[in-house]
Amino acid sequence: MPRPRPKVIHTAVRRLRNGIANASLGLAVPLFILLAVVPSASLRAEGFLNPAAIVLGETATFRVDIAPSTFPDAAIHWTADPESRVSFPVGSSGRTITVRGDAPGDVLLRVEIDGYAGEHPVANARVVPLATVKADAWIIRDGDNWARTEAQVINLFDEANDILSQVGVRISLDSVNSTNRPDWFNLTNPPGVLQTANQIVSVTNGTGGLVYYFVNDIRGYRGLRSGSDILMERDGTGRTVAHEACHCFGLSDVYAWDDDSPLALSPSMPISRSRMPMDWGSDSASGFYRSDLTQSNVVERLLMIGRSKDGAVDIPRGDVWGVWYHWTNTPPSGGRVKSWRESLAPVGFFEHADPTPFLK
Ligand SMILES: [Zn+2]
Repeated sequence: MPRPRPKVIHTAVRRLRNGIANASLGLAVPLFILLAVVPSASLRAEGFLNPAAIVLGETATFRVDIAPSTFPDAAIHWTADPESRVSFPVGSSGRTITVRGDAPGDVLLRVEIDGYAGEHPVANARVVPLATVKADAWIIRDGDNWARTEAQVINLFDEANDILSQVGVRISLDSVNSTNRPDWFNLTNPPGVLQTANQIVSVTNGTGGLVYYFVNDIRGYRGLRSGSDILMERDGTGRTVAHEACHCFGLSDVYAWDDDSPLALSPSMPISRSRMPMDWGSDSASGFYRSDLTQSNVVERLLMIGRSKDGAVDIPRGDVWGVWYHWTNTPPSGGRVKSWRESLAPVGFFEHADPTPFLK
């Protein structure tokens, strides 16, 4: 099972131009600052590193990496602006820090390093009340042949909740039901995938939450969604559950490239503050980012990338530059066409997602 990864858009490394030894303290020269690293499994219980949100009354983990490893933790200090929004229940020094959400609103965490007079790495976050979203699940079966077991479905939602924890959302699975409908087990043509899908989602009406239907195979689709009704085939993962939930909340798909799209990000396009304005991990325009980190790299790590991609689970605070589409109606034919664009894509949780219609 893929483990959650950190918010890569806070992953940053830059050679410190002004890194100097503090001779009087005997400190090593800090060479690199890396905001957020790939967490080990042991960090899973604490959730994401440098998440977009800190739940009110709960804690989140933030981390800055500074090389060499001999550079002492005691020389790395975190401050919060405004101070009243969060506290540091186990101390405010070190590479890894525990931050508790004390009052709702945005907070800027700034890292100060003894002996270093250059710009500060920063991490932005928002303290939010936990948003508990209601969901029900239906498993389609063909006699004794289940598209998923109940345990598998529960596990998928656990995985999805790991991912959604970075934005303070938890899906509460109210019920797991099953229905014996051999004609719904595989959606094939004929009689028509969409026609069958419409029959399936009419099983429930107006639950006020999200409804997930687990089928075996959807010919030609990985999954289908109509409003808050979501159909998933057997290849869907916990990431798919979280991705589809975020569509319901209002986020769009984003791509670096796609077979359908006439547009693609230039592979060498550098990241910049203007391409992720709410998620830039530095006070300055230059940032603390790897020189080889491209905008494509960032997009390919997002939960809202519009294709199956294990490990792509980052949810940014704000919109991120990429290739995306919206649907336009074509009145003469009455159909819809995908209209592609390259711009700040509506994938930023605090800019374009609203889970409130689905709250418990
Ligand atoms: Zn999607």
